[in-house]
Amino acid sequence: MRLLLVEDDRQLGDGIRAGLVLEGYTVDWAENGGSAEEALKGEHFDLVVLDLGLPHRSGIEILQSLRARGNTTPVLVLTARDTVADRIKGLDSGGDDYMTKPFDLDELNARIRALLRRSAGHASPVMQHGAIAIDPAAHTVTLDGKAVEISPREFAILRMLLANAGRVLSRGRLEEALYGWGTDVESNAVEVHIHHLRKKLGSSLIRTVRGVGYIVNKTDS
Ligand code: CA
Repeated sequence: MRLLLVEDDRQLGDGIRAGLVLEGYTVDWAENGGSAEEALKGEHFDLVVLDLGLPHRSGIEILQSLRARGNTTPVLVLTARDTVADRIKGLDSGGDDYMTKPFDLDELNARIRALLRRSAGHASPVMQHGAIAIDPAAHTVTLDGKAVEISPREFAILRMLLANAGRVLSRGRLEEALYGWGTDVESNAVEVHIHHLRKKLGSSLIRTVRGVGYIVNKTDS
């Protein structure tokens, strides 16, 4: 999962980014309103953590223009002051949730998980797909109830595919979820992770759509 963090406070941004990376997300960090806007216009993110008080463009302006473009990416708003007016403005401008500074990183992570879950159409924290269950909070995968050893990148790919079950994800989209700005992607990295996932979870789970990408079929469960 690839997250965009928009925060102009260096120290706070460092802390949030480190906490999100520990959770296994790929995190890109924009330190002002202009670069946030540019990133959101050009690239896909699974969720945005958006500070409201920013240089160049305010968080509210960024949010409004994002929604005006029809972009439905979940946005968690960070507000500096706990005023009712700020929170209302953030939510009314298209924010999906908010946190008031200072906040607890564990709570931020829990709220992000809840937003990602809802945006993928799951109400339950554990994603079930046939015999496979993945728990994004605990970072665990089970097959028929038995724990499966899985690397953080394999976990990230599996989670993306299950969250988008029934849709083909291109290799580029999966690479984006794994690697942020400034990291070189080895050309066959995604294939290697898919290969390992098939070995661990069965060869029929992830199908290759030649020339397009990968898909996990929808289940009834
Ligand atoms: Ca700020």
